[in-house]
Amino acid sequence: MRAALEEAAAAIGAVDARVLACHLLGASRAWLIANPMHVLTESQDAQYDSLVARRAMGMPVAYLTGTREFWGREFAVGPAVLIPRPETETLVEAALARLPAVGTALDLGSGSGAIAVTLACERPGAAVCAVDASAEALEVARANAGRHGVKVEFLLGSWYAPVAGRRFDLVVANPPYVAEGDHHLGEGDLRFEPRAALTDGSRDGLDSLRAVIAGAPAHLAPGGWLLVEHGWDQAPACRHLLAQAGFAEIASVADLAGIARVAGGRRQ
Ligand code: GLN
Repeated sequence: MRAALEEAAAAIGAVDARVLACHLLGASRAWLIANPMHVLTESQDAQYDSLVARRAMGMPVAYLTGTREFWGREFAVGPAVLIPRPETETLVEAALARLPAVGTALDLGSGSGAIAVTLACERPGAAVCAVDASAEALEVARANAGRHGVKVEFLLGSWYAPVAGRRFDLVVANPPYVAEGDHHLGEGDLRFEPRAALTDGSRDGLDSLRAVIAGAPAHLAPGGWLLVEHGWDQAPACRHLLAQAGFAEIASVADLAGIARVAGGRRQ
């Protein structure tokens, strides 16, 4: 094991080398450190080589292990869904502060279901609905609701289409907001993530946020909140869109890096 780990660490770094070894062996980090002389079977050795080679090509670790932690829980992830990001926990925190114990919540563009399932876990009395335009993503989200033992209503469709005529106490969304042509789309993990989860192809990256914000008043109960995640430079634009849509109590929330990352407002 030690030689394999050292070789892998040289190619992909010690942290990823260890995470992939733990995944392969179903072992904890502590076990791995305590058992450096553990001998891999020939097939494990080949599988480890393949994991390391794919990581070296840029494949995200979360797609190789099939999981990512979000809000203290493990979520199944795969190439059909965006890998949950720490900054999205800022959106969840703001949402939990505003979702009544027995309220209703709508998560638009749910992806892995990380937001919807977390809300359902943290507010067992609330009714959570999750919409996504990708059937494959909904499958992943359904598996995550099952994994954490919560009931979420999953609906296939674009933004508000599947919830026509319905109103919620809270609407949240982490829509695609990366501007078309942003160089990040061609770098790092983003190259492997579903393009439609990252960008809607608009020049300023705001088309989906426009649709989510403009459609929200018709789907919020009076006094209900809309919260959206957005890009590092999109806070003023989002606050402007919220004002245009008639929202009150418009505010931005900074993520742990201090970047305004969530914008929200209250329906009057
Ligand atoms: N936060 C992601 C990124 O910049 C983008 C997620 C999104 O578009 N919703 O990598």
